[in-house]
Amino acid sequence: MAKLNGKVAIVTGASRGIGEAIAKLFAAEGAKVVCAARSLNEGDHKLFTGSLNTTVAEIKAAGGTALAVQTDLSREESCVRLVAKTRETFGPVDILVNNAAVSFFAQIKDMTLRQWDTSWAVGPRAIFVLTKEVLPDMIKRCSGAIVNISSSGAIGPGRGPYKDRGPGANSGTKYGAQKAAIERFSQGLAQELYQYGISVTALSPSQLVVTPGTLFFKMAASPNDPRAEPPDMMARATLLLATEPLDKVTGRVTYSQQILQEFGWIKKGQGTGIDRPGSGYSQI
Ligand code: NAP
Repeated sequence: MAKLNGKVAIVTGASRGIGEAIAKLFAAEGAKVVCAARSLNEGDHKLFTGSLNTTVAEIKAAGGTALAVQTDLSREESCVRLVAKTRETFGPVDILVNNAAVSFFAQIKDMTLRQWDTSWAVGPRAIFVLTKEVLPDMIKRCSGAIVNISSSGAIGPGRGPYKDRGPGANSGTKYGAQKAAIERFSQGLAQELYQYGISVTALSPSQLVVTPGTLFFKMAASPNDPRAEPPDMMARATLLLATEPLDKVTGRVTYSQQILQEFGWIKKGQGTGIDRPGSGYSQI
């Protein structure tokens, strides 16, 4: 039986990658999905293929319901419009998936303030704005789920001394700091909202996911990188966190294959959360 019949979900970063996979699975499970990102049409992004209209067309071709809302998450008014347009089209939001991120990988000494500000605005700041926009409806109905996408980058390098000076070493400080902030925010928000029956969770891939983003930053060696898990693993784990009962999931900071294995959705997982420990927040 479909798990999201009648539910209204917003998925940010649904023009490509993990967000696209989440949007498609949610729609296949019966949700009315609002897909948000900047790229409305193919060619809108200088570097990447994928667009909201492509995601929505594929959802509709498969018999699902979806709407593309072009959104620049770094702008408050654009986030506010996204939620208003969702409410106007489909009704109050049941599920918010904060998946979008913009990544600049550079050491702090080489990073511009603009890069720093933009990525905080698309990441933690937009999560704050969207959360504030969806909460009145969720609180009124005493139900809802917010899933924030994090990364094992939140784990950090630990204490020194640091002998590894290889290529790329230490270039994820900003990215990791944002993801750590998202994890702390998620757990605190989960505690605040428990009384209203609203779950808040943070989810990261257990392994690399090949997406336009990871291919561009050469984190994925190729579309068939053997170290990777399929994007569907994150989509299924997001579905799990958005649908399992509040007391079983709220406040969890977890990893795709860890949570899927724990709930018996996959037999045997691997990667972060299973073969190696996750972040501090995933352990409390
Ligand atoms: P991706 O391929 O780089 O896609 C990023 C998405 O964010 C795109 O849909 C992009 O759409 C959207 N976005 C960027 N800036 C935006 C803005 N200003 N306003 C609205 N949307 C914006 O990323 P991904 O690899 O799928 O990753 C998705 C999430 O998983 C991220 O939070 C990432 O940190 C996390 N993650 C991924 C991996 C992995 O292995 N892939 C590992 C750990 C964590 P537009 O460009 O069209 O706006």
